[in-house]
Amino acid sequence: MPAESQMALADLHTHTYFSDGTESPARVVEMAKAAGLAAIAITDHDNIDAFPVALPIAQQLGIELLVGIEMSASYDGLEVHLLSYGFDRENVVLQKHLSEQKARRVERVHTMVKRLQAVGCQIEAEEVFAIAGAGTVGRPHVARVLLKHGYISRLSEAFSRYIGPDNPGFVPGSPLAPKEVIRVIRAANGIPVLAHPIFLKRDQLIATFVEQGLGGLEVFHSNHPPDAVARYNKLANRLGLLKTGGSDFHGDTKEGLPIGTSAIPYHFVEALKRRSA
Ligand code: AMP
Ligand code: ZN
Ligand code: FE
Ligand code: FE
Repeated sequence: MPAESQMALADLHTHTYFSDGTESPARVVEMAKAAGLAAIAITDHDNIDAFPVALPIAQQLGIELLVGIEMSASYDGLEVHLLSYGFDRENVVLQKHLSEQKARRVERVHTMVKRLQAVGCQIEAEEVFAIAGAGTVGRPHVARVLLKHGYISRLSEAFSRYIGPDNPGFVPGSPLAPKEVIRVIRAANGIPVLAHPIFLKRDQLIATFVEQGLGGLEVFHSNHPPDAVARYNKLANRLGLLKTGGSDFHGDTKEGLPIGTSAIPYHFVEALKRRSA
């Protein structure tokens, strides 16, 4: 048996500047390699543009890069994040969904900015787009603009006062139900995985999503304490779900969270690849 320290590990949840992370795809791959990981997936929000950029670097460094994404959905007013792995990036159903989602997210920023202006925050949508650049625009970019203008003193404050689910500036990341997003992922031959179930706070919904085609559960996540890992591990066993995990690395957007946190043994990756083959 290999010693624990030699066990191959994978981080299947990372973000780059193609969504709300602050690092380039190359840098994420380099950091993963430096952390000693055997494999990673880049899972930008509603965006797969990092993959072709990161792949040659991963090949050069000898680290496995899996195709991944984190897609937004909403259910009963709750934000639902669906990770997906092993899909066909060229699939037309997926491509159409991503371009519609891109347009919705732009529209969402205009709506959020109007709502924030109505509560006294003098910010402009153009400032948000300038920070997001070419990638998927989202709430962390809005938070950065609020910070720049001094309406908050830390990024997390944006989510407790202005753009979190109970705040005046909140607009869901997608109006689509998980069922519809699962359908898109399945159409592209991917495996849909419910991300960080601890944030959903409604474990009983997971069985419903399984009936709708959910294939996996993110059992391991940087925000899952040991008791949550144990609970989701049992739930995944009971529902016959694949198990995944990772850091949810975002660079400076989530400070103090290095790549490789909550990394998983490589056998989980093998199981995922077997199911998607
Ligand atoms: P969006 O997809 O635009 O709704 O943005 C979701 C992202 O916002 C998450 O992936 C996190 O990076 C960030 N986020 C959500 N809630 C918080 C929070 N309470 N504090 C800091 N960042 C958060
Ligand atoms: Zn994010
Ligand atoms: Fe998420
Ligand atoms: Fe994430």
